[in-house]
Amino acid sequence: MCRPSRSLSSGLKSLSNSALQYLIADLHLDGKRPETTRLFLDFIDGPAREAAGLYILGDLFEAWIGDDAAGQLGRQVATRLASLSRAGTRIYFLCGNRDFLVGPDYCRRAGMSRLDEPVSLIEHRGETIALLHGDTLCTDDVSYQKFRRKARSPQWQKKMLAKPVWMRKLMAGAARLMSRRHTGNTAETIMDVNSGAVAEAFVHHRVRRMIHGHTHRRAIHDLQVDGRHCQRIVLGDWGKTGSVVRLDSNPPAMLKITRNRDGEVTLRLQETAAPLAD
Ligand code: MN
Repeated sequence: MCRPSRSLSSGLKSLSNSALQYLIADLHLDGKRPETTRLFLDFIDGPAREAAGLYILGDLFEAWIGDDAAGQLGRQVATRLASLSRAGTRIYFLCGNRDFLVGPDYCRRAGMSRLDEPVSLIEHRGETIALLHGDTLCTDDVSYQKFRRKARSPQWQKKMLAKPVWMRKLMAGAARLMSRRHTGNTAETIMDVNSGAVAEAFVHHRVRRMIHGHTHRRAIHDLQVDGRHCQRIVLGDWGKTGSVVRLDSNPPAMLKITRNRDGEVTLRLQETAAPLAD
């Protein structure tokens, strides 16, 4: 399971200057959307091989009730991720609100390193960038934040993982129903990020760029925090197409993964981030 950590430096990774990195989030893989799973697996076997690193910023899976209940989909994804890792792409996983119970055992099988959550810092071309799933920025959703604190405690997780798989399945089903009702009854603005929480995160982590998912509102936001130009890059969720952020020697780019007429997966440039003003 992902242990909470607020330490600034523990997630620091040094990346070589031009090394290509891809970031993705919110695939919400489950058995009901095989098209999305196929798109992801083809991405893993294709374009992802070019990258030095692949960062998965949470909600890779629609639901996760423990590594001992990975199921066929979980095993299939682990096998393909492990093969990508063996081919030389480093894989990093920062958990989301759906898959925060992904544990060290599954990460080992998938050949991926777990990043500290809620925030990890990476070094890219001399710049520190904050990576997060994004749910901690949605502070207006008070009931969710309350659940989040409870569910991230080691005691709660230990108790949950000790329950038989069938009981966890039942509980997860009920939780999803309640979450859907909550989402349906809660104003859109409450489920988006809180601008105060965003500004605070920029200041606290001493960064000018952050990349996250969770809200499914793909965008590049330029804003001023304490008189400095900051940028918040929000990954989109996956469905028939996918959302990818590319870091290399150019400014960050937002890409769309789709299939061409021959059925091959291709990455298309959607938007390039503005360089940060001094
Ligand atoms: Mn999420």
